[in-house]
Formats: sequence, C-alpha cells, structure tokens
Amino acid sequence: MERTLSIIKPDATRRNICGKIVAMLEAAGLRVVAQKRIHLSRREAEQFYAVHSERPFFDELCIFMCSGPVTVQVLEGHDAIAVNREVMGATNPAEAKPGTIRKELAVSLTENSVHGSDGPDTAAQEIAFFFSEIEIVG
Ligand code: GDP
Repeated sequence: MERTLSIIKPDATRRNICGKIVAMLEAAGLRVVAQKRIHLSRREAEQFYAVHSERPFFDELCIFMCSGPVTVQVLEGHDAIAVNREVMGATNPAEAKPGTIRKELAVSLTENSVHGSDGPDTAAQEIAFFFSEIEIVG
C-alpha cells in the first residue's frame, strides 16, 4: 500500500465538481483516507510550490492556487502515486489522454483541476505539509 497527496484545485472547487473527481479517483482504485477543504494563503501556495519558484509560471500558479478553496486529500492504494498520475493525465489538458481527469475536466494548463505527488519522497513531504498522522485513517 502506498499513499499520495492529491489536491482538487480552485478551478474545480469553483465549478462544484469535487464529487466527480473523487468518483474518478475511486474508480481508479484509490481510497480517500484523509480530506479537507481549505483556502491557501499566498505564502502557503508559494511554500507548497517552492520547487517551481524559478519557473516563469510560478506567480500565475500561486495566484491561481489561492484564488479559491482547494480540497486536499491523502489517497491510498497499490501503487497510489503512479495510479493517481495516470488518472490525472498529462499536465497540459490538451495533451492528456481521453478518460483522464485533466482531459475531461480541466480548463487550461494552469487551471488543470488536480495535483498529485510525483514520487515517494515528495508524497511524504506533501502529506506532512497538510496532514498530521492522526488525521489519516486508512
Ligand atoms: P504536475 O505535476 O503535472 O502538476 O506538473 P508540474 O509539477 O510540472 O507543475 C505544477 C503545476 O504548475 C501544473 O499542474 C500546472 O498547474 C502549472 N504549470 C506547469 N507547467 C506550466 C506551464 O508551462 N505554464 C503554466 N502557465 N502553468 C504550468
């Protein structure tokens, strides 16, 4: 069993499609073992995406991520990190495969509906950024 951090981004909470996204995650075999809806501050968004701080899209990304509420989740399952990346689809929705969350639901490259950790180390760090162990119930 593996855990990964998922974020339903502000474009999706704004359109009230969190349930639709959770249904797609569950259909892919992932289990939501922790979940909360929060509104990130600019500082928290910058901390979370610090790895991208030198990228040209950093400001746009941080402004977007605190433009409305997000739903942060811990997902659990066999190969959860890779399975979640697969069901999310490519970063750019225009390049995502049919049936993926980003192909079916995302708005644009920035407003691409979901985040998912990209490896075991980042998953552990990102889960700890939002959740304490007592909040995660498998
Ligand atoms: P992810 O792991 O698929 O989410 O992609 P990355 O970690 O590379 O990028 C983080 C987020 O930054 C993406 O999900 C997009 O919201 C945004 N992003 C990535 N690349 C670009 C880009 O070239 N332009 C813009 N505007 N946003 C980007």
